[in-house]
Amino acid sequence: MNIHEYQGKEILKQYGVSVPNGRVAYTVEEAVDAAKELGTDVVVVKAQIHAGGRGKAGGVKVAKDLKEVRTYAEELLGKTLVTHQTGPSGKEVKRLLIEEGCDIRKEYYIGFVLDRDSDCIVLMASEEGGTDIEEVAEKNPEKIFKEYIDPVVGLVPYQARKIAFQINIPDQVINKAVTFMLGLYRVFIEKDCSIVEINPLVVTGDNQVLALDAKFNFDDNALYRQKEVVAYRDLDEEDAKEIEASKYQLSYISLEGNIGCMVNGAGLAMATMDIIKHYNGDPANFLDVGGGATEEKVKEAFKIILSDSQVKGIFVNIFGGIMKCDIIAAGVVAAAKELGLDVPLVVRLEGTNVELGKQILRESGLNITAAESMADGAQKIVSLVG
Ligand code: ADP
Ligand code: MG
Repeated sequence: MNIHEYQGKEILKQYGVSVPNGRVAYTVEEAVDAAKELGTDVVVVKAQIHAGGRGKAGGVKVAKDLKEVRTYAEELLGKTLVTHQTGPSGKEVKRLLIEEGCDIRKEYYIGFVLDRDSDCIVLMASEEGGTDIEEVAEKNPEKIFKEYIDPVVGLVPYQARKIAFQINIPDQVINKAVTFMLGLYRVFIEKDCSIVEINPLVVTGDNQVLALDAKFNFDDNALYRQKEVVAYRDLDEEDAKEIEASKYQLSYISLEGNIGCMVNGAGLAMATMDIIKHYNGDPANFLDVGGGATEEKVKEAFKIILSDSQVKGIFVNIFGGIMKCDIIAAGVVAAAKELGLDVPLVVRLEGTNVELGKQILRESGLNITAAESMADGAQKIVSLVG
């Protein structure tokens, strides 16, 4: 799960990690009021969307008076911002962060991320802050420094000090930078994060060390014990189909292609996407209905696929082990009858109650193409979609 920058900064504050003063605003009036309350000469108006790259895309504006705050708030609220992280359709700005302007001396990058290769949390840092860290990693990998953190011991002050020296934090603020990193590590652990990224961390003209941006990603499997984090969830930022799927405990991920897939088991779902690609098709989604799906759940899953206007054909690929083929067939038929089926449907069934499942499909009167194998099904749906 992701949260907004201003929410991330609220969390950072609780842990003694310094951030500029700021307030969230949902309307132009709230934005102007927030700027008045801050009372600083320069105020920054920042679009709040779950994506980075806002600065380059015009989503971060520096205002020198209240009139400019109003102008920028009017411009940004309701605007669809396209950044290199939003995808081509962009994201609509519905909230702003009104923040005091900082006198930036230099921008740095600090991040904590779970590294699956070393089974450790890694502290990553660079003095090339503000820009894309991916770009730095590609062009100047020597400018990124890493400290691997023993999960039992935690981040030790000497490691933070070492990083601070490596990225050339000015001597006068080394201790503040160390405190910053230790606080950030505590946030990472206590809030069950998978990524915390501060880009940029800045040293200001008056020697403060501040988080100017905050990107958080939380481990979904730990959300049951992170009530405060869950309260920050912004459904506007999430894919409507994925939200719907999560209500029925379906593992569903939207993709860019046009072949809807309904599969049971994550492994088979991955293999199905692979074989569609192999025959030059493009899957519209990953969907694992799970082992013990009911007819109801299958029906909802099928509805979610059908609700995607990108979908030009559907491939149902089921291996009935625990899952019974007749239940899948009944769910598919029920959903197709309720919503109408105006795209080609290819079904490959195998396993428990397969004959019964095939019979339900045959007798449904729906236009269904039966497939004998995965490869056969993938080829058929790819050619039907054209
Ligand atoms: P993004 O990463 O989405 O582009 P950031 O929050 O990192 O957004 O902002 C982009 C840039 O805007 C920063 O690198 C910084 O130079 C500037 N900026 C952001 N917030 C402030 C602020 N409060 N005061 C001064 N400059 C800021
Ligand atoms: Mg940033």
